Order: sequence, then structure tokens, then C-alpha cells
Amino acid sequence: MKALVYGGPGQKSWQDVPDPRIVNPTDAIVRIDTTTICGTDLHILKGDVPAVQPGRILGHEGVGTITDVGASVGNLTVGDRVIISCIKSCGHCANCRTGLYSHCLGDEGQSGIGWIFGHLIDGTQAEYVRVPYADNSLHRLPEGVSDEQAVMLSDILPTGFEIGVQYGRVKPGDTVAVIGAGPVGLAAIATAGLYGAAAIIAIDLDKNRLEQARTFGATETVISGSGWKEQVLALTDGQGVDVAIEAVGIPQTFEMATRIVRPGGNVANVGVHGKPVELHLEELWIQNINISTGLVNANTTPMLLKLVAQQKLPAEKFATHRFALDNILDAYDTFSRASETNALKVVITR
Ligand code: NAD
Ligand code: ZN
Repeated sequence: MKALVYGGPGQKSWQDVPDPRIVNPTDAIVRIDTTTICGTDLHILKGDVPAVQPGRILGHEGVGTITDVGASVGNLTVGDRVIISCIKSCGHCANCRTGLYSHCLGDEGQSGIGWIFGHLIDGTQAEYVRVPYADNSLHRLPEGVSDEQAVMLSDILPTGFEIGVQYGRVKPGDTVAVIGAGPVGLAAIATAGLYGAAAIIAIDLDKNRLEQARTFGATETVISGSGWKEQVLALTDGQGVDVAIEAVGIPQTFEMATRIVRPGGNVANVGVHGKPVELHLEELWIQNINISTGLVNANTTPMLLKLVAQQKLPAEKFATHRFALDNILDAYDTFSRASETNALKVVITR
């Protein structure tokens, strides 16, 4: 088959590799019908994730059709259309039993690390992929949900919802600020209303992304430049927001989140930080705030899938560009120049 293979920092190639096959009885083989690219793939290509070794097939998002199942797979059969979760879950370990799939203790990849596709085992930017723990890590797709909608449920929608909205403890009537209106921040904006957010303030450097944010449910937008903090405080009668969600992953934006949260509020960090970040406890200790962090569990994917099927969550709106799998290198080019191309998610189909 063909697959996108990481060759070390700055290097990738669309090349012939052996077809994946069933290794463990809990595996399934999935033919990739639709995949996409995540900002994390760009981090890997820069060499920021040293655990990813040359030779690894990239990608952790995908929708496909099952072509083979191991002997102990019970819930799925050949021909099923499925969403591939970006997080493995064996379903049996102590962490999986509490829904903490991000720390699944199953041996695949590495025990205790839930994100393994395109990281510690071969990923989804390929014609086929081996999916461990298939019964728990795949979700069968109902009729009426398109691949293009479903692929947004592999990672971005559960991430924005779980690590932004749920960990941020959004509740009815809240004012929520989302710093960073990339796909993940937009996913938080699109799902904040599920817990009754009354006002959603999107903050970004990029005007196009702020316009996008309004279409996903932001009620106010603020350019991340001079005077940004005063603007946010003015929108909250000087009180600060109930929940500040950080969805960028740089020290500056984490600090921003801590500067606009009201006493008793919540700061939910979603961004992946490659550098140490300062935490000003000498000022924050008196504020009675909660700060949360985390890797997505993707345990809300079945619920979010129902909302997409009922047309209550516009997953399809994330798709801005489309490519054939054979042209995945062009898709990377468009995605990596998002500030020029206005790409949100590039959809890649077989
Ligand atoms: P992205 O790069 O597409 O979006 C980031 C946005 O932040 C951009 O729109 C950019 O213009 C904006 N931005 C940059 N600097 C800014 C600043 N100073 N002020 C305001 N906005 C600024 O990224 P994404 O794909 O949306 O992902 C967002 C973050 O979430 C990344 O760090 C990603 O690695 C992380 N992530 C975390 C998890 C998790 O499980 N915690 C899962 C997936 C992604
Ligand atoms: Zn587990």
C-alpha cells in the first residue's frame, strides 16, 4: 500500500510500504476512506516530538471501512464504516474503566500513553491502518453522517469539548473566552453552548479565524493585540470571564488566560506546550481559580456523534479544502500555510 512516512525532521514521503495485518486478536484492519492533518503532525515534522522515529506512518485521525478483524473482535465486522479514535482504549485497564483513555495501560505503543497512532505505532495517513483494541477504539458510523463530518470526531471535536469545555467546567449563563480560534479552539466554541455558555469571546491574531469563530457560535471577537485585555474586561463589566480556554500552546497565551479569568473561575489549558510556561502563583493564589490540563480522552465521541447525526453540531464546517489521498503532499502544503490559504481542516479522501 501507499502511506505517508516520516523520514526525520523536515522529511516525509508518500511511498510504498507493506500492508498492515492483524497482529493481536483484538485488532482490526481499516481501509482509510477519509483522513486529515492535525497541527500536531506539523510539530512532529519539525522534530518537536522525538518519540516519533523515522519510518513511522503519520496521522491520528481517520474514517474508514473495516477489511479484517481479529478473532476476539466482537462488536464490529468487515464492511462496517467506522471513526478511528485518536486515542487507544483497551477498555479493561484501571484507567480505561474510569474513562481516562488518554492514559490507557494497554501495551500497544506504550503502556500509559493513549495517543499512539502516527506517534508510537503506524498512523492513518495511509491506504490501510491496523487499529488495536478495535472494539473500544472504533465507533461505527450511522447512516446519514458523512465521512467529512465524522473525521472531525477523531480528535478536534472531543478535544475542544473535553479539555476545553468540560475541564473548564462551563455552566449555564457563563461567559467563556477561547484564546486561539484554530480547529481545536473552534471546536470548543462550537460545543460551549452544550453546557449553556451565554457569551463566547473568541481571541486570535488572525481576522479570518475570528470571522470563522462567529460562524461556530462566538458572540464577540477580540484581536490579540494591544488593548485586547481591556476589551475582554469591558465585555464582562470589568469582572473577567468565568472560563478562559487556552487553545494555542505558547507561554504568552497561557498567561493571557490567567489574566482574564474572574475570581472563582476556571482556566482550561488545551494547547500543547513545547516550552516551560510561567505560572504567577504569587498573584494568582488569592484568586480562587482552577487550572486544568490534559490530553483528550475521546470518551465523548459517541455522544458528539449523536449530535452530529441530529444536525445539532456542524462538524462539516471545519472542512475548507479537499484532496485525494495520492495528493497528500499538496494537502500538507495547503494546511501548513493556513494563514495564507485560510485552511481549517483539509479533508483527504481515497
Ligand atoms: P492551530 O495552530 O491551527 O490554531 C492556533 C490558533 O492560535 C491560530 O488561529 C493562531 O492564529 C492563534 N494564535 C497564535 N498566537 C496567538 C496569540 N498570541 N493570541 C491569540 N491567538 C493566537 O492549532 P489547533 O490545531 O487549533 O490546535 C490548538 C492547540 O491544541 C495546539 O497546541 C494543539 O497541539 C493542541 N491540541 C491539544 C490536544 C489535547 O489533547 N490537549 C489535542 C489536539 C490538539
Ligand atoms: Zn486501557
